[in-house]
Amino acid sequence: MSFNVANLFERLKEEPDRPTASKFTDEDILKPEPGNTYVLRLLFLPPVGDSKRALPMVNQYYHSFWDNSLQSNKGVVVYCPTSEYISGNNGFKECPICDSAQRFYKDSQTSASAKELYKKAARTFKGYIPVYVVSGPDDIVGKVKILRYPKTVAQFFDHAIFNKSSYKRDDQPQVDLDEVIGKDAFSYEDDTGLHLEAYNFILEVTSKKVDTENGKVNMPQYKCSFSRKMSKITQFGENEIKSGYFEELSKNLDFDKKYMRTSTREELMDFNLKYISTLDVTGSSDTGSSYDQATESSKETQVTQANDEQPKSKDDLNDIDDFLDSLDKL
Ligand SMILES: [Zn+2]
Repeated sequence: MSFNVANLFERLKEEPDRPTASKFTDEDILKPEPGNTYVLRLLFLPPVGDSKRALPMVNQYYHSFWDNSLQSNKGVVVYCPTSEYISGNNGFKECPICDSAQRFYKDSQTSASAKELYKKAARTFKGYIPVYVVSGPDDIVGKVKILRYPKTVAQFFDHAIFNKSSYKRDDQPQVDLDEVIGKDAFSYEDDTGLHLEAYNFILEVTSKKVDTENGKVNMPQYKCSFSRKMSKITQFGENEIKSGYFEELSKNLDFDKKYMRTSTREELMDFNLKYISTLDVTGSSDTGSSYDQATESSKETQVTQANDEQPKSKDDLNDIDDFLDSLDKL
């Protein structure tokens, strides 16, 4: 199999990635916590098996619902097919659940219950990328982890590494073309050999009290940058990096199978029919109460652990672009 990072960068714009299904796992995950600064080497691990992953990271959207009628595994998750790209104003129509969310959104300006339903139906973002921890909390330094990152970090990667933007908004950060990092953001091995010299990614996480509909809430704030100079890392913890190391790592982490997930059209339709499209905007008491329970109960599940960012205020949402942005709940 040919793996050439420079060529991949050329092709990335033309080839949107379609993930394949697997099971969620929390193993190996690095969830950045407020109060920490992480110095990380991003890894571009080669795709393994029949994976069609072209990017080093997986940017994933999903919808979740807490189903009390199920005996076990009550947190139901489907993976939104709008992952990575929403092209044009009708992009969300690729997903029946996003389509339902849009209907709730239309009423959410005037109806509090529609607003609640909208928040439940809207998609949530999570990104995943393998990293080597250069410095940070003691227990993870010198280890390879999967960094789980929110939309703000994804947008930074889009700009700083790929020089692209997912959103056409005026308020997005501008990146000077000279500062676009490209493949030098990663350690990797491709057809041309080992590339161990790269810029470290620095992620500083703080916490800020933010006004939301639920009162003041502590929200994590993410400050992203790359080191000013490249550095060569030749060993990860005890492991010296030799030819074949990254491929082995990709297999051991099972990155493609674990983190590239998709749901079939049938699964999406079924989820939409069962949990979303039948929800009543005018709010029958039954529906309302099961929703409240869902919010409370799901705190115990891994689904909601993955879903812990607070929704931003929806007050300023008044056009279709804002709707598309707000689908991310971040
Ligand atoms: Zn969706």
